[in-house]
Amino acid sequence: MSTVPKPAATPADPAPTAGPSFSSLPLPPATLANLQRLGYLGMTPIQAASLPLALAGKDLIAQAKTGSGKTAAFALPLLANLNPRPNAGVMAVQALVLCPTRELAEQVTQEIRRLARAEDNIKTLTLCGGATMRPQIASLAHGAHIVVGTPGRILDHLSRETLTLDALNTLVLDEADRMLDMGFAEDIANVIKHAPKQRQTLLFSATYPEGVMKLASRFMREPQEVKLTERHAATKIRQRFYEVKESERLHAVGLLLNHYRPVSTLAFCNTKQQCRDLVAVLQAEGLVALELHGDLDQRERDQVLVQFANRSCSVLVATDVAARGLDIAQLEAVINVDITPDMEVHTHRVGRTGRADEAGWAFSLASLDEMGRVGRIDEMQGSASVWHPLSELTAPADAEPLHPPMVTLQILGGRKEKIRPGDVLGALTKDLGFEFTQIGKINVNEFSTYVAVERGIADKALRGLNEGKVKGKTVKVRRL
Ligand code: ADP
Ligand code: MG
Repeated sequence: MSTVPKPAATPADPAPTAGPSFSSLPLPPATLANLQRLGYLGMTPIQAASLPLALAGKDLIAQAKTGSGKTAAFALPLLANLNPRPNAGVMAVQALVLCPTRELAEQVTQEIRRLARAEDNIKTLTLCGGATMRPQIASLAHGAHIVVGTPGRILDHLSRETLTLDALNTLVLDEADRMLDMGFAEDIANVIKHAPKQRQTLLFSATYPEGVMKLASRFMREPQEVKLTERHAATKIRQRFYEVKESERLHAVGLLLNHYRPVSTLAFCNTKQQCRDLVAVLQAEGLVALELHGDLDQRERDQVLVQFANRSCSVLVATDVAARGLDIAQLEAVINVDITPDMEVHTHRVGRTGRADEAGWAFSLASLDEMGRVGRIDEMQGSASVWHPLSELTAPADAEPLHPPMVTLQILGGRKEKIRPGDVLGALTKDLGFEFTQIGKINVNEFSTYVAVERGIADKALRGLNEGKVKGKTVKVRRL
């Protein structure tokens, strides 16, 4: 047995404590009961700071790191502003949420739907680019209370008049910093031109650069500012620094992974070239590493994220820009392959691990040239960084290189072929006799379905699916 430290919770960790209760807020009993059902026992800090103001109708600029619960901080006020039965009898759009990407828009839609369960018949639509217009236009014609989408596509609908904002009472700009990075400033301005002046505007952002301040000053009325400059709970995130020579840096990432053996790790590099080099080194060492970068098309990006989220990729390598806004649960470790010159970025990177009630590791590799940056990190954190020698990173002698627990099989066929997760699960368990516990996440996309299976059954499952049928049809399956 190895005695390698694991990032899982140890008895020494304090029990997670829920924040202040939602019941202190002016929310209807049904909403409070629904929050309870969702397991939202207390407010997160950003929710506690922003909900009282937002529910009182104030415009709000809120900044907090990814994973801090910002969606509910705007979704609850937006739902409170809804009139479920507008007198005209038509369901005009009353709330609009602008998001930078389709992925994020879909996540926000899901969260709004969960939170809206307490009320009857709230319709929420997602409108993003990359999808065909016609079904979106048809859905809009049926009416919706809430629209979530990307600025370009929303603008497209507004100019065709398939969407109007005359009845809008809440406008949300989610991940405002990222939307500006992606060049959406003009589209956002043009969307807002279509919205009534009398409205509540809520702006959420992970960071608060000058561009965001400017955006806010253009479109908001006496906004209240809620900024949560984070202090990570020291008990939850364990930070360790390792001094490296330039020539050791990429190899050190493999040493960290094989020593600590986290299931899912996000490795940050300062440049795309460094990302590419690192992935090549890790793959050569037998590790399953994938790169997330801006040049991937939507389908490739989906494929990378699916594999990381279903635990069939050990390490996702990314620049800060590419990783912005990703909501990845269960991240055991973050590695700063380079030290970033921007302290806020460092805090943000480190804050990605140790989500919710889980503990996490944050490892940083620093060369002598980067010691000045580390000094500033210490100053900002108000504590001295903890250093460990690279030489202590020794995997147990009998250890294999770290392998992810799952393997992803891609079935060529998806929503277009009306495949549902249950069809795949049925084929694997009923037809092929695998256990439910051996099957992981199943993601059905438009043209492809991805199913995670335990590494040990991957070959058999692949053969079985290729020889058998899914939903009564033969399918082509490959291992990613
Ligand atoms: P952000 O937008 O700040 O990145 P999200 O809104 O996506 O964060 O929330 C992160 C996760 O935390 C989601 O899975 C969400 O369901 C969960 N969450 C949000 N608020 C609470 C709460 N009060 N209690 C428990 N879980 C919460
Ligand atoms: Mg968010």
